Amino acid sequence: MRIILLGTPGAGKGTQAKILSEKLHLPHISTGDILRQNVKQGTELGLKAKAFMERGELVPDELVTQMLVQRIAQSDTRDGFILDGYPRNIIQAESLDAMLLKEDVKIDFIFYLDADEAVIIQRLMGRLVCSVCGANFHIKNMPPKNDMVCDNCGGRLYQRDDDNRETIKKRLEVYRNESSPLVQYYQKQQKLYRLSSNEEPEVVLGKIMRIIEKRHDCLKN
Ligand code: ADP
Ligand code: ZN
Repeated sequence: MRIILLGTPGAGKGTQAKILSEKLHLPHISTGDILRQNVKQGTELGLKAKAFMERGELVPDELVTQMLVQRIAQSDTRDGFILDGYPRNIIQAESLDAMLLKEDVKIDFIFYLDADEAVIIQRLMGRLVCSVCGANFHIKNMPPKNDMVCDNCGGRLYQRDDDNRETIKKRLEVYRNESSPLVQYYQKQQKLYRLSSNEEPEVVLGKIMRIIEKRHDCLKN
């Protein structure tokens, strides 16, 4: 099964992708996570991407697309994947379509997570990320049991460099200008499900699972 998660920063793509990945036994492919990993390790890609990410701008399409092609070529994606953070503009969507066509496979579900701006800003301003396993927490909404320590793995929690008010504003503007046209792009393909994601993660997950299960029941009958 191939799933794409769309939505603004802070809409909950990463949170849902992580849960879905475990539930459905599919790899979670987050372009943001792969890029941050590259920055941390100081790879050539990381060095090129760093400044764009710090400014809240998109990393150039060629770099990100090449990175995704390599990731999708790995054997764990044979039965599908959950894509989080790609595509982020129409050019990337067209590149993805070309990749899938070449493999003769299709996207099954596109979930567009829609949250209010006030909710988004509150989520991003308080977000804490585990430096080891990547799990997300929130200072108020989802506090870790021990201060700045990951509940899952004991790793140290940190605040992302781009989760500050200024860069958040920029990321939302980039989303409006470059990513929001994707909703129309995918609406044409009739696989797009729009969900409100102001609610808690479990509630949003429930909505996603109902849609997946319903479609699968149709296929069975
Ligand atoms: P968020 O969606 O919360 O902004 P991500 O972790 O998905 O966070 O992305 C962080 C940054 O990584 C983006 O602001 C951008 O600079 C870069 N990035 C991630 N995915 C892409 C992509 N598909 N194309 C271009 N840049 C990307
Ligand atoms: Zn952890």
